[in-house]
Amino acid sequence: MGKNIDVKNEGKKRKWIYPRKVKGKLSRYRDLFGGLLLLFLFSAPFVKMNGEQLVLLNVIERKFAFFGILFSPQDFYLFVLAMLILIVFIALFTVVYGRVWCGWACPQTIFMELVFRRIERWIEGDAPRQRKLNESDWNLEKVWKRGLKHFIFIAISFAISNVFLAYIIGSDALFKIITEPVSSHVTGFIAIWIFTAVFYLVFAYVREIVCTVICPYGRLQGVLLDRNSMIVAYDYQRGEPRGKIRKKAAVEAVPPAGDCIDCDMCVQVCPTGIDIRQGTQLECINCTLCIDACDAIMHKIGRPERLIGFKSEEELVSGKPFNAGRRAYMYAAVLVAMIIGFGFMIYRKPNLDVSILRAKGTLYQTLENGDIGNLYNAELVNKTNKKMVFHLIPADAAYRIDYIVKDSVLQAGEATKLTFFIKHKEKGLGGYKTNVDIKVVVDGKERNTVSTTFIGPVNF
Ligand code: SF4
Ligand code: SF4
Repeated sequence: MGKNIDVKNEGKKRKWIYPRKVKGKLSRYRDLFGGLLLLFLFSAPFVKMNGEQLVLLNVIERKFAFFGILFSPQDFYLFVLAMLILIVFIALFTVVYGRVWCGWACPQTIFMELVFRRIERWIEGDAPRQRKLNESDWNLEKVWKRGLKHFIFIAISFAISNVFLAYIIGSDALFKIITEPVSSHVTGFIAIWIFTAVFYLVFAYVREIVCTVICPYGRLQGVLLDRNSMIVAYDYQRGEPRGKIRKKAAVEAVPPAGDCIDCDMCVQVCPTGIDIRQGTQLECINCTLCIDACDAIMHKIGRPERLIGFKSEEELVSGKPFNAGRRAYMYAAVLVAMIIGFGFMIYRKPNLDVSILRAKGTLYQTLENGDIGNLYNAELVNKTNKKMVFHLIPADAAYRIDYIVKDSVLQAGEATKLTFFIKHKEKGLGGYKTNVDIKVVVDGKERNTVSTTFIGPVNF
């Protein structure tokens, strides 16, 4: 059992983990990358591009926006395709680079490691002091440290909850909930506090269990990884047989046969509490912290770095350089094909959807003046973030439109429904069923032409 695990909890199901702080090149890169991701996560719902949120994931109204492109409910298939591309991308990434997404880019890890654990260390100290505080009886120091920590945790969870809602309902709707009286937005207000409670529980108590037990992606690892996948791995050929260093002056000491001096540092820094020397484990999130920890030890004892490194099983066994493997190339081909298809669909995505259908179950009507009329329902969807002023004109001047329900303004991202008669003189109809083309004129310019059918008496 690792020393960053609470012995007091042994026998119980949960083992509280106190990972040590680690310094190193990879940790610095990860902090930088994570910091940029945090900046993006917190700003994306509040930055506008083409009048839309940079990222909007309004699953309730099925409205999505990515980098200025708005996807209305009619474009839901595009959103589904984008999600499929993301899944294939993550699968490909996992096949080649293992679970590096979890350790470097997953919001759960980023918030846990870069925000919550950092605050915990700042208030309670590094792992040994945290353990000591936990094991101590309640006193003034414990009360104020715990109180301050949980107060800050709740405040940050509240901020995350607001940002999360801004992704789901939009930053404008969130702003209304914040600025208007609670009584006008009871549901929104309750949602903010429910999400606050969930985030607080996740980051204060559930922690690594999200990665090791709850997250389905972690469970998929066993299926996706193969001998060629790059993973955080211990070079057992080089490290074994392990043994404690024999002399007090570490730098001059001669290590035992293997390079591993069994210092346990790789275990002490692990946020999921595992010993990477036992081989690939589902709990490993590829955070690479144990690489930095072991590199520091190797440096001290004058041995080459990367006893623990980012390597494939094949590389460890045969010493052959990294080769992605056939499966990775297959995934890559599928991914490229999907991205090309998606790009083409985005390029062809219409800004305005128009459907005109003859009213269900109706035939033609002979009007008082002897003209023939057909009843129609039309729906127009504005898929842009700009208002549209529109009207419909039959391409053939022999037809005319008489509205029952009329509209001429389409707000950004909105849809409207119209009901109208198309009329034609009894004389001159081409037959029982003829095609009618309707031009859609938007802001003075002809945008679409939609075809529908017109029926009249059989004898014409
Ligand atoms: S940090 Fe390196 S040397 Fe120390 S126990 Fe882990 S693998 Fe062995
Ligand atoms: S074994 Fe290493 S890479 Fe895996 S979770 Fe633990 S510290 Fe991170």
